[in-house]
Amino acid sequence: MARILVTGGAGFIGSHLCKRLVEEGNEVICADNLFTGSMENIEALRDYKSFEFIKHDVTEELRVEVDRIFNLACPASPPHYQYDPIKTMKTSVFGAINMLGLAKRLNARILQASTSEVYGNPLMHPQKEEYWGNVNTIGIRSCYDEGKRAAETLFFDYHRQNNVDIKVIRIFNTYGPNMNPEDGRVVSNFIMQALRGEDITIYGDGSQTRSFCYVDDLVEGMMRMMDSRDGFSGPVNLGNPGEFTMLELANKVIELTGSSSKLVFMPLPQDDPVKRKPDISLAKKELGWEPKIVLEEGLKKTIKYFETKL
Ligand code: NAD
Ligand code: UDP
Repeated sequence: MARILVTGGAGFIGSHLCKRLVEEGNEVICADNLFTGSMENIEALRDYKSFEFIKHDVTEELRVEVDRIFNLACPASPPHYQYDPIKTMKTSVFGAINMLGLAKRLNARILQASTSEVYGNPLMHPQKEEYWGNVNTIGIRSCYDEGKRAAETLFFDYHRQNNVDIKVIRIFNTYGPNMNPEDGRVVSNFIMQALRGEDITIYGDGSQTRSFCYVDDLVEGMMRMMDSRDGFSGPVNLGNPGEFTMLELANKVIELTGSSSKLVFMPLPQDDPVKRKPDISLAKKELGWEPKIVLEEGLKKTIKYFETKL
């Protein structure tokens, strides 16, 4: 049992992580400014004495006493992180500095939720951790991509310079219950559109690929990384290597919902990566981890959740 801080704990992934940590008997402090997260996501956890919510913005210092920190605070969907790009960059960079400073003072282990976006529009496929990426510094995705890259740099510099015990994971597209139905990401958009009988919006020709990991698999990987051996800091890819085009995803969602929705094609957003698929050999070797839930099974669970949001 430990005292654990989860920043961004009221968000999609954070809420699942807080639940798992509390159920395993830990004391959890969830710090979130509720920009994209919601109290609804953590409603059931508020019955536990061992769970505490603090409304807090990670760009400001936080004074708490904990043994471990999971740093997840940052909007993750493109429309949300592009809404106020300067704030997004501040959240990644000042958030990392503040949480690393806290970890240093407390001698606490800290895990950073980094992203496959650090690979940008990748020229290596599938992506391995050694790949340095192909990222535009001045595009509309840069506030997120470069913010997360700078955060990784800060993590490794605090480790080298101040001996902070760091763990860095690179999360690939993750989906599941508690995603904000209106957050504009592809899985939530397609399911909500299918359930409402609206047109399914394919950006570009739909041939771009993504790899989708069900949230329970991801949380298992996060837990294992936090508990991983001393001396292993990552970065490590966490994602499901199954690779799908957006057209395949749309057709799968239509099939599973039995929807009569039609596909419509819309302009591809700037710098939208053409393909993405994790090489997870390192996670297998170091963490004994690989995803268990295939896309169809995960989509069925997610559809059930979104049916309650209509
Ligand atoms: P989310 O938007 O649902 O959750 C992010 C949470 O952070 C929200 O609760 C939001 O209110 C909070 N937040 C944002 N800015 C904050 C700030 N300045 N101070 C305090 N709290 C703040 O997104 P998510 O999908 O749960 O993502 C969680 C983390 O995982 C993010 O860091 C994201 O970059 C990373 N990630 C997610 C994915 C994915 O596919 N879901 C992929 C790669 C990386
Ligand atoms: N996308 C789409 N229709 C939508 C939303 C997204 O075709 O309604 C595409 C988007 O252009 C991208 C992929 O789906 O190629 C994944 O988008 P998302 O915003 O979920 O995450 P990303 O991996 O791009 O950060």
